[in-house]
Amino acid sequence: MTVTEVVPDNTIEVLDHGFVRLDDAMADDLSVVNGARVSFARRKTEMEEADEGLIRFLMRDRHGSPFEHNAFRFHIRCPIFVAREWFRHRIGSFNEFSMRYAKATDEFYVPAAEDVRTQVGKPGAYSFERVDADLAEEARTELEALYEEAYATYARLVEKGVARELARSVIPVGAYTQFYWTVNARALMNFVSLRNAEFAQLEIRRYAEAVERFFAQEMPVTHAAFVANDRTAP
Ligand SMILES: Cc1cc2nc3c(=O)[nH]c(=O)nc-3n(C[C@H](O)[C@H](O)[C@H](O)COP(=O)(O)OP(=O)(O)OC[C@H]3O[C@@H](n4cnc5c(N)ncnc54)[C@H](O)[C@@H]3O)c2cc1C
Repeated sequence: MTVTEVVPDNTIEVLDHGFVRLDDAMADDLSVVNGARVSFARRKTEMEEADEGLIRFLMRDRHGSPFEHNAFRFHIRCPIFVAREWFRHRIGSFNEFSMRYAKATDEFYVPAAEDVRTQVGKPGAYSFERVDADLAEEARTELEALYEEAYATYARLVEKGVARELARSVIPVGAYTQFYWTVNARALMNFVSLRNAEFAQLEIRRYAEAVERFFAQEMPVTHAAFVANDRTAP
């Protein structure tokens, strides 16, 4: 799939039980153009060639604020450890599933065999390499067994009357959570520049790829300018 193809149902499945769904967007390239052209009391209703050049100029010279007049609202389902990395991105709004109020999910992330990896090298300069098939299968089996035991303990404690907010202590960070994330294009570009990147962890990178596809779908000229600018957010 190329990044500009429209995604059916606005949902991209990620990992074994996750997804990125574009719930709604108020976002187009024209919002960038008009955000910038208001300096000269000018407003466009349609994109023209010169406007594409203007977007490239704004991106290159890091005039960032015109890229903020838009919003993407995503619904995301991902493992808790991915959400923890995601929530470090402070420019945006989040609301997350609560294990205080609702029963914990019994769906957990088990990596595909080809995604089980080892780290080689020193801190700050690791490379990640696939492990052999036997170790991959062993890791998957160990994870499944641990998840099963953790969830059974959780269910037992809740059944006996322990509050969900406390019983959740046994739930591993491989459990799936879900949240809404509303973000403007400038902060979104910062997110994908860091997370759809070589040094990002593989799992969040898969999610960032999905986010980037929606960004390209809604704001193709801005996305192309971002890519041309070495994927540096303005
Ligand atoms: C590969 C990788 C490894 C990482 N490893 C670690 C780690 O080991 N430990 C760890 O704690 N974190 C780690 N992080 C998280 C990282 O430090 C950032 O917290 C995270 O990527 C969010 O980036 P951000 O601050 O640019 O995004 P946002 O919070 O969305 O901010 C966007 C931009 O707004 C501006 N901004 C936001 N808040 C402030 C502020 N308070 N002051 C000034 N400017 C602000 C900055 O220009 C910032 O780039 C890692 C991230 C990556 C990608």
